[in-house]
Amino acid sequence: MIPQRGTNKVALVTGASRGIGRAIAERLAAEGYQVFANDLKAREAELADLVATVQSNGGQCATIYCDVSDPASVQAMAEELLKKAGRLDVLVNNAGVRSVHLADGIEPDEWDRMFAVNTKGTFLVTKAFLAQFRANGSGRIINIASIGGKLGGPNETHYCASKGAVINFTQGLAREVATQGITVNAVCPGVIDTDMGRAHLQDPETLRKVLEKTAMGRVGNPADVVGAVGFFASDDAAFITGQSLNVDGGIIFD
Ligand code: NAP
Repeated sequence: MIPQRGTNKVALVTGASRGIGRAIAERLAAEGYQVFANDLKAREAELADLVATVQSNGGQCATIYCDVSDPASVQAMAEELLKKAGRLDVLVNNAGVRSVHLADGIEPDEWDRMFAVNTKGTFLVTKAFLAQFRANGSGRIINIASIGGKLGGPNETHYCASKGAVINFTQGLAREVATQGITVNAVCPGVIDTDMGRAHLQDPETLRKVLEKTAMGRVGNPADVVGAVGFFASDDAAFITGQSLNVDGGIIFD
């Protein structure tokens, strides 16, 4: 039974056209939130499919576009959302990119792209809504980081560094806004079977190593991640802030 914790509340999920973001949008809509599903304009068809699915299940979902790495695009998206919905209660910074390179094979532009979407994107979308969270005296910010941001990982140092920065941003901002009714937490997925996660799963040797170090002996599905997001978004998590929760089937134990 999915708890109805989102009645009369508005949530925004970035990067919702597929994978973990789509699953989060579907879950929050199932909890009763009025969901705004964001992605790049190029993902119009995928988002239309998400909206149709949510609506056919009786939920509320609308599309809202921006490139999270572009300040002007983010600002316009925030203004549009607040005009349409009047308020935002829950922000899920999920949009992300990843690529696989040895450190000395990372082009500077690729390093910048990783930080532009994963780190600066999280900052920009958060910044665009902070004033209204403060004005409401409430807000839930949930950043989708990664266990890679804690452990580091070979062949993805740029990705892991960008996610480590998201975890640190989460902690610093949590301290900054803690007395204003706003909580800021991160969810750190392990290896999840999505278009992005499959980069890990295709090479049998990499997959074998992942399964070996995962206590549950399996990779995750997007549905495995959504419960943690729903919890952080809820009133039950009112006294929890600055945390980075591993959702990894048992890879990190501290
Ligand atoms: P995914 O399947 O690649 O989906 C990422 C989504 O973000 C896509 O919809 C993508 O749109 C969107 N996006 C990319 N750049 C964007 C931008 N500039 N503005 C707006 N949207 C943008 O990845 P996923 O596996 O679901 O990952 C979701 C989040 O979980 C990411 O932050 C990722 O780093 C994190 N994570 C994933 C795993 C895993 O194993 N899958 C593990 C740890 C953490 P396009 O389709 O247009 O690219």
